[in-house]
Amino acid sequence: MSQQGYVAAPPYSQAQPGMGGYPSGYGATPAQPMYGHYGAPAQAFSAPPTGVAKGPVATPPPVSQYGSPLQQNGAHTQRFPPPAAGPSPFGPPPQVSYQSMAPQVPPPTQQLANQMGAMQIGNYGQMPQAPPSSASQMSPPPTMSQPAPPSMMSHQAPPSMMSQPAPPSMMSHQAPPSMMSHQAPPPMMSQPAPHPMMSQSGPMAPGPQTPPMGSPPPMGAAPPMTGMMSGPPPMGGVGFQQHPGQGGPQGFPQQPGPGPYGGPMGAPQSGFPGAFQGGAAQMAGPPQKKLDPDSIPSTTQMIEDDQAKRGGQLYTTNVRGQVPPLVTTNFTVQDQGNASPRFMRCTTYTFPCTADLAKQCQVPLATIIKPLATIPKNEAPLFMVNHGETGPIRCNRCKAYMCPYMQFMDGGRRYQCGFCNCVNEVPAFYFQHLDHMGRRMDVYERPELSLGSYEFIATLDYCKNNKLPNPPAYIFMIDVSFSNIKSGLVRLVCEELKTLLDNLPREDGVESSAVRVGFVTYNKILHFYNVKGALAQPQMMVVSDVVDMFLPLLDGFLVNYDESRAVINNLLDQIPDMFADTNESETVFTPVIQAGLEALKAAECSGKLFLFHSSIPTAEAPGKLKNRDDRKLVNTDKEKTLFQPARGVYESLVKECVTQGCSVDLFLFPSQYLDMATMGHLPTHTGGSVYKYNNFQAETDGENFLSDLRKDIEKPIGFDAIMRVRTSTGFRATDFHGAVYMNNTTDVEMASIDCNKAVTVEFKHDDTLSEETGALMQCALLYTTVGGQRRLRVHNLSLSCSGQLSELYKSCETDALTNYFAKSAYRAMLNQPLKTVREILVNQTAHMLACYRKNCASPSAASQLILPDAMKVFPVYMNSLMKTLPLVGSSELSTDERAYQRLTMLSMGVEDTQLLLYPRLIPVHTMSVDSDVIPAAVRCSEERLTDGGMFLLDNGRGLFLWVGQACPPDLVQSLFNVPSVAHLPADLSSLPDLDNAHSKKLRSIISSICEQRPNSMKLVVVRQKDRPEVLFRQLLVEDKGLHGGASYMDFLCYVHREIRQLLT
Ligand SMILES: [Zn+2]
Repeated sequence: MSQQGYVAAPPYSQAQPGMGGYPSGYGATPAQPMYGHYGAPAQAFSAPPTGVAKGPVATPPPVSQYGSPLQQNGAHTQRFPPPAAGPSPFGPPPQVSYQSMAPQVPPPTQQLANQMGAMQIGNYGQMPQAPPSSASQMSPPPTMSQPAPPSMMSHQAPPSMMSQPAPPSMMSHQAPPSMMSHQAPPPMMSQPAPHPMMSQSGPMAPGPQTPPMGSPPPMGAAPPMTGMMSGPPPMGGVGFQQHPGQGGPQGFPQQPGPGPYGGPMGAPQSGFPGAFQGGAAQMAGPPQKKLDPDSIPSTTQMIEDDQAKRGGQLYTTNVRGQVPPLVTTNFTVQDQGNASPRFMRCTTYTFPCTADLAKQCQVPLATIIKPLATIPKNEAPLFMVNHGETGPIRCNRCKAYMCPYMQFMDGGRRYQCGFCNCVNEVPAFYFQHLDHMGRRMDVYERPELSLGSYEFIATLDYCKNNKLPNPPAYIFMIDVSFSNIKSGLVRLVCEELKTLLDNLPREDGVESSAVRVGFVTYNKILHFYNVKGALAQPQMMVVSDVVDMFLPLLDGFLVNYDESRAVINNLLDQIPDMFADTNESETVFTPVIQAGLEALKAAECSGKLFLFHSSIPTAEAPGKLKNRDDRKLVNTDKEKTLFQPARGVYESLVKECVTQGCSVDLFLFPSQYLDMATMGHLPTHTGGSVYKYNNFQAETDGENFLSDLRKDIEKPIGFDAIMRVRTSTGFRATDFHGAVYMNNTTDVEMASIDCNKAVTVEFKHDDTLSEETGALMQCALLYTTVGGQRRLRVHNLSLSCSGQLSELYKSCETDALTNYFAKSAYRAMLNQPLKTVREILVNQTAHMLACYRKNCASPSAASQLILPDAMKVFPVYMNSLMKTLPLVGSSELSTDERAYQRLTMLSMGVEDTQLLLYPRLIPVHTMSVDSDVIPAAVRCSEERLTDGGMFLLDNGRGLFLWVGQACPPDLVQSLFNVPSVAHLPADLSSLPDLDNAHSKKLRSIISSICEQRPNSMKLVVVRQKDRPEVLFRQLLVEDKGLHGGASYMDFLCYVHREIRQLLT
């Protein structure tokens, strides 16, 4: 356990939340005053146009608006246990994340909570700064009166289901029955199998089969306790009794190392029995005591159940705190006042009312925001609001934008801000009468009054230097050193650009793209090209002074493709030949980016640099790097240095790029180490992307690369972006993870942001939240479109608040939780030993689940593992996360590959992290050629493979087709056109185009999978027992890791033991 939790920045030392607009970094401050002037600017204008709808005006049905929370069940008269544990009795002082400030010695009934609270769960987030257990000590309550504390809110009628009043024993160790009733019975419950899973002696419990985890909970139907207490020892029994005598290490049999969780992950690789030896046998889990793998919660089952229950349905967003379907489920969103889960997805949809409760459960409160997420064609595009010169209407105090959470009053003349409670005058042009319900008559005619997401046209106040922006530019910068010429890359890029440039992104409904383009080639020196349309031939200008980079030409460097098409095509034809005979193998890197940056500066625009680069930049120039790949550092405290980027010019360039709105996309073609940690730093902090193709050969890898390049150029994107997340009183955004740059503590800056990039935002309490008003958040993204328009995209989301932890656990979203943990762990690994990071992950997992067990589950034998329904597969994801290459700590792994995976994950949305951490394993031998249905995925474990089967594995980054040795020859014939498995060529990476139903079906499955991903995926065909199988097997995340890391089963047992320790 770590107590020196990594502390990035003091969470409470920052500016007031929600204050201020977007002034920083921009020359002119907005015309509006920053604080509390009533109605100042707006009155000056008379009636600008009202909202202009783009696209169909879908007037949302007058459903009850966002006010009333779905469930107020949690309200009971008792107060929740007061904050646990003061620092003194239990361990380490203040910097331990929780409980540090509670003043009094806890009563005996609190001991459990105390112990858990006192557990030294370090946190690599910013928690360790001893958040105030009583917020008032730290920050005075806002002037607007707070609603009554949760304990006073109690008298709302509980829904019928919940009808049992909470017994007064709320504080005891056992949760009252009523709490169990609305909790779906813990997943494992549904299995009556009585035998202890880990029992040394007991026979294995096969247990009645499946769909155990997923079967719908008998909500309300049975008396609350039934599932748990009567009948055959419910779930618990099954899988998770551990042998009483079995303490410590035995719980985790193979682990050689002692210590907390030092076991699996910390252990030296060599001693790890699961290490790959080439045979299937070694891959299987623990040699002894085989347990029924069906007895532990199944991700695939949960995905299927959710799809069955909510798939194909319309998800309307009119209910506060509503938990959306899983990311894997197909559903259609109708915006009725809250942002679609495609834009914002939360770790829980019910926030705890107090900081103490948040500390107690340690469930991170976070939202993953993908502000420019792609909206499916069957959902309405965002409406655009144009208030003309007035600009968007904003709260005078907190600057929140007009949204459905503003409460109109006083006959429509004033409105109260839902975020800061400030009462504002309604500008004259915006006045509207209220109906008998107190709603504006025009509520459904204005997107900003009735929808969760919409855009405003921004005014000059929102532009740099009060000038409308120029359209962005794309600059293509091609490394023409020896290896890129030899691999065929240069020719490939140049050829492709001739068609790709026709597909530059453009504004909706506009004929041609406004994006200008420019071209640079380089090795140790740079070549700029004048491609002005009037020229007959392109002109090259060479800059060999790479120390003090300058732009040799202004006119003719950035051009409109349509106007310069002939010259550009001429250039693209010539480049491969010009450098065909090069023997230059050295390259520069940062001078190239500097050059691109200078070009954008000179053109006064934002934009993107596309670099096609092959090797570590060793030429004498700024940003020169040397090989620092020292695998001896792996598993030492210095391992983190492998992932820390070089400083100096790399740091300063990031800042300059972000200021200019210059995003960097890096396509790398390495044949050896190139210091990915440093080179990838620029793209990942400027909103760009990194792509890597090891040992690239145009013939074999060309198609994947081109597919990535096409998607990258064509994808929807915004530039020069600033994002701000405002919240209602009582909590605030404190931390941000993503491909972002933070110049201060609240403004998230991104040189660009595209439809695939997500920012994970963490929240902390600074006061008590009210069950009545809930927790509101508003994400505002200011950005420049590809057409050069300045826009504000606003997403609003309202969550419930509760004084009952059971409500919080019920509203958890496992996929969002794992996204948060993945990003925070990957960030923490820059500052902490990996072992510590992994321990924190395990400890926090155990803690979250122990807190549930203690506070929310009904009494049951300690030997039962009880998991919240909404988190029942959480452990498998956490275990998988610890086995990902960046966190696994094996010297066999390529440092660059680990750094690459680390960097690419930082900006992923929930869909991507879900698939990465639990790949989809599709038994393609079961596919039916008569239907469009893709066969249901099976659990990601070697045990699910069959010799006679064929399985497609998709983790969003790559595709594997695994062919069993006994795969039927006719299937092999129809897919590969060879008579048997033995005839399969060794390094097959595509399927032949055969004219039969099976071949067509499988190829269509593969192409439909590829279409959904932001990046291309190379197909690797692996034959059972062939050597490349190792690559496939390391993605079977329920099994023991090839490079270390426990199997899912072992991990669950270990976590269970930790939970039991926490509870005793
Ligand atoms: Zn406000």
